[in-house]
Amino acid sequence: MASKPIVKVIGTGGTIASVTSSRLDLTLYPETGHRILIKESLDRVPEVNELAEIRSEDLMSEASTFIGPSQWPRIARHINKVFREEPEVDGIVLTHGTGTMEETAYFLQLTVKSSKPVVMTGAMRPASALGTDADLNLYNAIRVAAHPDASGRGVLVVLNNQIHSGRDVTKTDPLHVETFKDYDMGLLGYADPDGEVVFYRSTVRKHTTATPFDVEQIESLPRVDIVSSYAGSDALLVEAVRRNGSAGLVLAGVGGGSVESPGPKAAMEAMKEGMTVALASRTANGRVVMTPGKERDGFIVADNLLPHKARILLMLALTVTKDRRAIQKMFYEY
Ligand code: ASP
Repeated sequence: MASKPIVKVIGTGGTIASVTSSRLDLTLYPETGHRILIKESLDRVPEVNELAEIRSEDLMSEASTFIGPSQWPRIARHINKVFREEPEVDGIVLTHGTGTMEETAYFLQLTVKSSKPVVMTGAMRPASALGTDADLNLYNAIRVAAHPDASGRGVLVVLNNQIHSGRDVTKTDPLHVETFKDYDMGLLGYADPDGEVVFYRSTVRKHTTATPFDVEQIESLPRVDIVSSYAGSDALLVEAVRRNGSAGLVLAGVGGGSVESPGPKAAMEAMKEGMTVALASRTANGRVVMTPGKERDGFIVADNLLPHKARILLMLALTVTKDRRAIQKMFYEY
């Protein structure tokens, strides 16, 4: 009999690891509950041992609101180390809170140096809740990480039987299990109840081994802030970012980012002082396109990346170059 694939499951916390005393507590658990270890999460789903030989470890135990630029390089380095030092591992599952999962996923999509599957999962209902999705999501994530078709597709996010790309996925609903979507880009496939893992598409944007970002060299990420436009918004928040001396700024425009509005106008001053500014959009779909005015004024356009994804690419880009054209090219490629 062929040996089972080896999947390493790495825990970071989140709702998937949360338990509380009432099965009806689906909203108060961040205040009333506590988090269990990854081994305890796995013990709840012994069926995973039929799918793969499981190894597990806890990297941290946090709500995902506490996972960000200070933790991302460490998480990426750790995943790269597992693939380097345990070459027999076929895939990795990373459990994570759903709040910032899409941001960690895009960071890893750009920094993991392996084509083996890295699958993120979490839960919308704590492990102790009636109808929790914690156990099934963990099972399905392991199923995908163990599947040969999952290789070479970048970082995958698996919840609710759906497989998403770490580049395009976003949380769209604060409460319900049907929350992760990819808007226009669509999901990649399903980890379905009939036991099948099916892919329909791959992202064609460069990722993992095809990017120049080397987390071994990154001590800390340059600070990049996001300022959103809204009806009547003025230069106040852009000024605050400028005064802070942040390395970069993503402006989430009300549409394609008119350079005549107060935010971009204030950002032009910041660019003169060396800040790199990318124009994204607060709309869910579509590209922010380059115009002669944006080109002349020195902006980068974020293509179809959501503002918080554009921030991650800009942070990483600034670790290798400050050249605007080189950074713009990355926004068209990653
Ligand atoms: N507050 C949680 C977190 O992001 C939500 C979740 O895990 O689903 O860690």
